[in-house]
Amino acid sequence: MWKRLDGKIKVRCLASACEDNLHCFKLGNKLATVLGAGTCRECKQPLVSMERVAQRDLADIDHTFAALQRECIRHYFWHIPFGQRALNYAHRAGRLALEERMPRRLRSRIGKAEPFRDGTQTPIATEKADALDYSMHAVAACCRKCVEYWHGIPVGQPLTEEEIAYLAELMRRYLQARLPDLDDQPRKIPSRPKADTVLRLPTARPHEAITLKHQHPHAS
Ligand SMILES: [Zn+2]
Ligand SMILES: [Zn+2]
Repeated sequence: MWKRLDGKIKVRCLASACEDNLHCFKLGNKLATVLGAGTCRECKQPLVSMERVAQRDLADIDHTFAALQRECIRHYFWHIPFGQRALNYAHRAGRLALEERMPRRLRSRIGKAEPFRDGTQTPIATEKADALDYSMHAVAACCRKCVEYWHGIPVGQPLTEEEIAYLAELMRRYLQARLPDLDDQPRKIPSRPKADTVLRLPTARPHEAITLKHQHPHAS
């Protein structure tokens, strides 16, 4: 499905493709009072129960995950294949270390009452996002705005340990679902030389630079 939609939609928070049943539930204050939470801002259909999701009940996680996937950006991160960077990151860490990093990542990215440049702190581009970034977008823990409209945790107060534990658990379950074969322990992934380093070599002309230096030893 995302192969077919590739290029048709720019994936961002406000993306939607209602004809493909992918919506956007991010409403500003005004829209929220007019439409009500859980209504798509584009097609105006009331589609998910935000009240139920905001109960933050792990026993109801299947419903939460299904609801999240009705939103365009969440669906994308639930279904696109992991990029190489995200896969390498996951394998180099191993499952146990990744799970340990989840609460820390949440605290540093969205833990504060009002994070700096909220909404831009979690990379979306697949060549920049690591496996934890994928999970944060997928479960709507990428920024405080998403945490607010999905999980009912208001901006303006630091996240509590309980809220962080809940969001980390969603991330953990997401990663289990997306990378079921990930080893518990780190795996060695050899780093390949970056393509652009190799390409830049012929134009770098290191000899020339050295020669110039030798020609003008007393220039200054
Ligand atoms: Zn819609
Ligand atoms: Zn967000």
